[in-house]
Amino acid sequence: MSTTYEARLDYRLPGGPFDLCGCHFCANEWLRAMDAIDPDGWRSRINSYAMILCRQCGCKRCPKASYHGHDCTASNESGQHGSVYGDFEIDESWRDDDGDDE
Ligand SMILES: [Zn+2]
Ligand SMILES: [Zn+2]
Repeated sequence: MSTTYEARLDYRLPGGPFDLCGCHFCANEWLRAMDAIDPDGWRSRINSYAMILCRQCGCKRCPKASYHGHDCTASNESGQHGSVYGDFEIDESWRDDDGDDE
């Protein structure tokens, strides 16, 4: 069984895509898209990634907070399957293309 991961972004807006979801995966895809459009605007976007919570249970370590297609466990335990605090990896390689920021 394989899952296709797809961000829920609305690309129809003139100012660039809009994150309709708010999970880690969608926020990462949104930031990646915005970074391509407006590489210098990251300061205004930095907070959008700071506190991502499951919309259902409000737990940041819930697998559903990491990806909207994952089941909500209503648990804030670390190391949960499907959570970025567990085994779910998000491709953030676009962030450090030159590796020498700061
Ligand atoms: Zn999402
Ligand atoms: Zn949840």
